[in-house]
Amino acid sequence: VTIAETSSVGIDIGATKWLVCLDDSNDEPLKGQVHDDPAATLSEIELVLKARALRIQALCCSFAGAVDKDGSVNSWPNRPSWRGFQLSSHLTTCAGGSLATIEDDGTCATVGEATAARMRSFRNILCVTLGTGIGSGMLLEGRLRRPVQGQPRTLGHFRAGTDVECSCGSIGCLQAALFKPKGVSPTLIRPIDPRERGLRRLFEVTADLALMLDLEAIVVTGGLLGHAPELRAIIVDGIRQELRSYGCTVVASERPHYSAAVGAYQLAKGWEAQRAG
Ligand SMILES: [Zn+2]
Repeated sequence: VTIAETSSVGIDIGATKWLVCLDDSNDEPLKGQVHDDPAATLSEIELVLKARALRIQALCCSFAGAVDKDGSVNSWPNRPSWRGFQLSSHLTTCAGGSLATIEDDGTCATVGEATAARMRSFRNILCVTLGTGIGSGMLLEGRLRRPVQGQPRTLGHFRAGTDVECSCGSIGCLQAALFKPKGVSPTLIRPIDPRERGLRRLFEVTADLALMLDLEAIVVTGGLLGHAPELRAIIVDGIRQELRSYGCTVVASERPHYSAAVGAYQLAKGWEAQRAG
C-alpha cells in the first residue's frame, strides 16, 4: 500500500484509543492504545507519523480532556495521570515543528459528521457523541460554535436533576445519570431500556435544543455506538419521538468510531477557514 505524501494530520486521543487520519478516503485510520503514561502514548503516535515520512503542514488533535491556554492538560477524569502533561509541545514535535492545534472532541466529531456526504447541505447541526461520557458540538449558520474555553459545557454536563455525582465533580450531570462514574470502558447500564430516566432526559434535552435553535439535523455518533449497535435505533427513535412533528433529520453516524479523527483531519486541512471565506 502506498500512502501519498500529505500535509495535514488529524489525531483523535480518546480515553482508550488514539486514531490518526491522513486523507479523505473512508479507510480505517491508523490506531493504537492510549496509556496512563502520556509521553509514551505521544511517542507511539510520533513513530507512526515518522514512519510515513510526511511533510506535515498542520496537525489538529481531537482531545477528550480539558487543556489550559498553554496546551497543558488540566483535567481528564478518565486519565488523571495526564494532568499537567504538556500536550501542545508534544504534538508540535509530532508535527515536525509545524502548527499543532488541540480541539474539543465534540467539536471535531461535529466537523467529521458535517463533512459526510449526506450532511453537507445542512447549516445547522447538533452532534451528540456517546463514548465514556456524552460530548457534543454544534454547527450554526454553517459555522462551528464552541463552548467557553476551559469550561466545556457539553450536553453530558447539562443538569438532569439527579443526585448522582459526575466525573467532573458536579452533581446531577446528564452523563452521570447514564454512565457509572469513573469507568474507562463504556458502562451504560444494560439491558438498555429507552424508558430509562437518564435516556429520556437525553432525548428531551436534545429535542429542546433542536426546537430552540431551529436545527436542521441531529447526528449521534461516538465509540459507544460501535460497542452497542442497538443504541443507534434506540437513541434516534427516542429523539424523533420527542421532536414530534418538527421536521429535523435525526441520524446515527455511518462511522461512529472515526467522526472525531476525520473532523480533526478536516480542521488541520483548513476546513473552518474555507467555510468562513
Ligand atoms: Zn459533569
